[in-house]
Amino acid sequence: MALTGIQILKMLPKKNCGECGIPTCLAFAMKVAAGQTEIGECPYVSDEVKETIGEASAPPIRTIKLGAGEGAFTAGGETCLFRHEKRFENPTGIGVLVTTDMAAADVEGRINRFNTLCYERVGVMLKADLIAVKDTKGDEGAFTALVKKVLDGAAKASLVLISDKPELLAAGAKACGDRKPLLYGATAATAEAMAKLGKETGCAIGVKGANLDDCVAVSEQLVAAGLKDLVIDTGARTVKGAFEDNVVARRSAVRKKFKPLGFPTITFPCEITDDPLMEAMVASVLIAKYAGMVILSDLQGDTLFPLLLERLNIFTDPQRPMVVTEDIYPINGPNENSPVLITCNFSLTYFIVSGEIEGSKVPSWLLIKDTEGLSVLTAWAAGKFGADMIAQFMKKAEIEGKVKHRELIIPGYLASMKGELEEELPGWTITIGPREAGHLPSFLKEWKPAA
Ligand code: SF4
Repeated sequence: MALTGIQILKMLPKKNCGECGIPTCLAFAMKVAAGQTEIGECPYVSDEVKETIGEASAPPIRTIKLGAGEGAFTAGGETCLFRHEKRFENPTGIGVLVTTDMAAADVEGRINRFNTLCYERVGVMLKADLIAVKDTKGDEGAFTALVKKVLDGAAKASLVLISDKPELLAAGAKACGDRKPLLYGATAATAEAMAKLGKETGCAIGVKGANLDDCVAVSEQLVAAGLKDLVIDTGARTVKGAFEDNVVARRSAVRKKFKPLGFPTITFPCEITDDPLMEAMVASVLIAKYAGMVILSDLQGDTLFPLLLERLNIFTDPQRPMVVTEDIYPINGPNENSPVLITCNFSLTYFIVSGEIEGSKVPSWLLIKDTEGLSVLTAWAAGKFGADMIAQFMKKAEIEGKVKHRELIIPGYLASMKGELEEELPGWTITIGPREAGHLPSFLKEWKPAA
């Protein structure tokens, strides 16, 4: 049963020292109770208390960590069914499959695409996370050679090792060293050996159920043997079945606190269809509905990019707007004669506006005013982008020390603010910029400081 903030507070040392990054023990306890931070962040609690609180405040879907360093990947940690109830915690891992019976060029192509298909969007780097290495021959030498090839070729990948034979998984885990892989998949027949392997290596174990009931039975067996870090596959290999099982597993864990299904799921769109477009569709359904990991047969930009964007949207915290820091941003090496523009700190606005300015190649100063993540018009309507606030910010930012002219370009949607701003900023000329960021390059190329 989950502990309340007050129950947690009673077990804290109450030093109010702030070393956990939160000013008071009470605020820290509330955050632990809400699953927003971990009890281990307080350096003063005993191991015993850590265990008591950690278990009681653990999320219904266990947090599983794979890999290390740049390639570290976290799955699970989820606490709700719907994003608007709170937020989704750890984005679905997107992975690509390589097998021991694949031609070397096919494996290398997949590794190469894993490394190169990266996209920057609103300041976030989007890319695949996992490479699943599958044994199809029962040949230990071929399997470990493939594992090493992936380890050497993809430094930023977390690995999923797939084999029916625990001894091959043991050899693969040994080759991985600190980059702890997921070892998949334990069945009723191999559960005992896989439990032993999990304890020896410290790696998370993947449960390979024949169906949902079988998955529960194997999961219970592994938990009874002392394993904590599991990833579950219910065995469904149709989109309907995988969708239903993911929903049942999440509901059972979150609503009923049903422990055997309280783990992230691994799903295999690559085994559901041979059609690459259908595979991407299946993956998109499973990303939207609770998959901890989706394994694809290949990575291609035209299908990977939309999946990464879908994932970004679903796993963005709806209660926290994406913002950039209030500041003066120099773009294209501006000087004292360069134009000065202002906009809000909603990150999408910032990246679109700064991208257009950058593309124009016109050296410019971009002022970003803190509007609490609201877009231009919404911020203005909410009283967070008024003339007095802009004037105050410009003084604080000391833009007057950076340019000789006194001309400020405001977003076209704020044209009605011109007069008010001129009153607030005596000596400054207010120029109304374009309404759409896409028109900024031609606007800036023609811009000259007002005489
Ligand atoms: S580090 Fe521990 S003692 Fe200090 S404020 Fe945080 S919870 Fe309280």
